[in-house]
Amino acid sequence: MIISVASGKGGTGKTTVSTNLARSIDQKVQVFDCDVEEPDSHLFLNPVIEKKESVIAPVPEIDLEKCSFCKKCMNICRFGAIAVLKKDVLCFENLCHSCGGCFEVCPENAVMEKERSLGEVEHGSSNGISFIHGRLDISQVMVPPIIKKIRSYTNPDIVTIIDAPPGTSCPVIAAMNKADFILLVTEPTPFGLHDLKLAVETVRILGIPHGLVINRAGLGNDDVKIYSEKENLPILMEIPFDKKIAKIYSKGQMVVEQLPEYKEKFQNLFNKISQLVEKGRQEK
Ligand code: SF4
Ligand code: SF4
Repeated sequence: MIISVASGKGGTGKTTVSTNLARSIDQKVQVFDCDVEEPDSHLFLNPVIEKKESVIAPVPEIDLEKCSFCKKCMNICRFGAIAVLKKDVLCFENLCHSCGGCFEVCPENAVMEKERSLGEVEHGSSNGISFIHGRLDISQVMVPPIIKKIRSYTNPDIVTIIDAPPGTSCPVIAAMNKADFILLVTEPTPFGLHDLKLAVETVRILGIPHGLVINRAGLGNDDVKIYSEKENLPILMEIPFDKKIAKIYSKGQMVVEQLPEYKEKFQNLFNKISQLVEKGRQEK
């Protein structure tokens, strides 16, 4: 089962939920931190890193000896990554999405592949939890290939928990796509509600079963609950706005280890997710 933990807004407690959920369930589990611009699950799980690998993407390099300056490569590129001049062709690596279009259309075989490093993926383990996270290189913007690389290590025989990036753009889709369940995490504030609505729209387009965790419950108002009821969005857990939890988080500790009563609450959360996944499978 693949559970993707997502939120429209950053800082809602996604990492708290994904790491504590992983630590609570009595099954084999792997955690993928796909928030590759700011990975932070390792700060809580403290994995021992055993292996690192680079994530590479092909970008074009033009052989000007062969080039006829026909502009076909420039015209097919949707990202403005190639400019054909009278006697030169400029390639802007940081704009390139490695779609391969320019390599395909060149009639002179003048477009050669050059490797560009996007970031790296680290593999490790933490007290029986298999752990993988990615890191985007400074100045790079191509997040989805790193997320795809991390997800290529999905073991279908165990539970996979994905800590998705915040927002609703391509990286989030890459982290939620083909999940069995999307666990949305929000806080009961106007900003939380605004971004939750965007996240729910995205999840519904993907057609994946989903539910909600309200973090810092009691902080703001009831608008998130009213919205959830109206939209038939099940609230699966509430984590109270509690100084004790905030202190544990700020020290990089696990809630389920410092406040053991939370282990059962996260186990209940996992049981509710399993039931909703099963229900979704039966309805298909
Ligand atoms: S498509 Fe090939 S031949 Fe045409 S401008 Fe681009 S590199 Fe040159
Ligand atoms: S690989 Fe795709 S995105 Fe990159 S330069 Fe070529 S056409 Fe543009």
